[in-house]
Amino acid sequence: MIESPFQKPAQFEAIRRQLVSLRERSPFYRQKYADLDLTAVQSWEDFGRLPFTEKADLRQAYPLGLQAAPDEEIVRIHSSSGTTGTPVIIPYTQADVTDWAEMFARCYAMAGVTPLDRVHITPGYGLWTAGIGFQAGAERLGAMVVPMGPGNTDKQLQMMIDLKSTVLCATSSYALLLAEEIERRGIRDRIHLRKGIIGSERWGEKMRRRIAEELGVQLYDIYGLTEIYGPGIGISCEHQCGMHYWDDYLYFEIVDQHSGEPVPAGEIGELVITTLRKQGAPLIRYRTHDLTRFIPGDCACGSPYPRIYDILGRTDDMVKVKGVIIYPAQIDEILREVERVSSEFQVMIDHIEGHDVMTLFFETAADSHREGLEAAVRQRCKQRIGLTIVPKAVAIGDLPRSEKKTNRVFDNRY
Ligand code: ZN
Repeated sequence: MIESPFQKPAQFEAIRRQLVSLRERSPFYRQKYADLDLTAVQSWEDFGRLPFTEKADLRQAYPLGLQAAPDEEIVRIHSSSGTTGTPVIIPYTQADVTDWAEMFARCYAMAGVTPLDRVHITPGYGLWTAGIGFQAGAERLGAMVVPMGPGNTDKQLQMMIDLKSTVLCATSSYALLLAEEIERRGIRDRIHLRKGIIGSERWGEKMRRRIAEELGVQLYDIYGLTEIYGPGIGISCEHQCGMHYWDDYLYFEIVDQHSGEPVPAGEIGELVITTLRKQGAPLIRYRTHDLTRFIPGDCACGSPYPRIYDILGRTDDMVKVKGVIIYPAQIDEILREVERVSSEFQVMIDHIEGHDVMTLFFETAADSHREGLEAAVRQRCKQRIGLTIVPKAVAIGDLPRSEKKTNRVFDNRY
């Protein structure tokens, strides 16, 4: 078998071993893969023919249908938020909890965090995997944890000052809120932060620069999802060129979201993850619906762990117009280059008189010259994505906003 940075013989060996006993251990896969001979999987090609695991399948296993280890070995459960339906419950064994902490400790180490650091954790605790994941990883590394959880900005800042927190773990929106409060209160010189570890949301370069500058920290993106341990399965390094992921625990594939076939090397597609060691709830070919691509070649940081690009959006947000693939991060990028345009936008795709038409609504300051900005946006879209669009400038505040993920792409063709 050929050694590739994204397909290693050791990974295949781990998959093969896992498949042999999978149906015995997991009632979920006993049912899902009932008609398959898993011992016949002898190559990556065979493996690539196994049916994907979908989030909807996991929901149907509620509450404990995913459990693949005996009761006496399960030490904890976590759950995805369940805002869009039945929650997914993931059981963890002691080994799973330890493995996750180990991966997370690697993330901190990659970000240059040391046992002398004081790690201020603001993501939530509870059923969600965030807070406890950040904590277990920092403890395993040997740093001092300040387990704040979210909210109560006064107390956050007081503890940050008194305990001299050096590492902030937060979502991008909460990091921005804290940065603005620190600025407003004029307490920057009493803050000792040097690193920010930011998880869970897609965030633009504008926001990143603001947080980094206002907090005076170096920022790292951390990746993960509850179904696969939680945050901590990958992180960006000091070179900020994508995220390294822990390929001794996980096997990553990037596939065409429609055909399910692997995309050509380096192209964008949907990330599919297989766990290599998970005991409590192993997952085979789990569709994350996150869009990214593999980054070939060695990283300047010297890490042996392979890289994926930042998460570019969700597959639900990706559309094909006249054969061109479009995803929200590209639009973010284009709008960022145009002055007097906000970061909010909406894309409408219609089929008019036999042609696909893409209309891009974006917000501009009240006193701007709208025709000029529309022309600028149209020209940049043509240059960057090779597509002639219909630009429509609207006033700031005209496009809908929401605390949660906003749907920005509307495909009206079907
Ligand atoms: Zn690197």
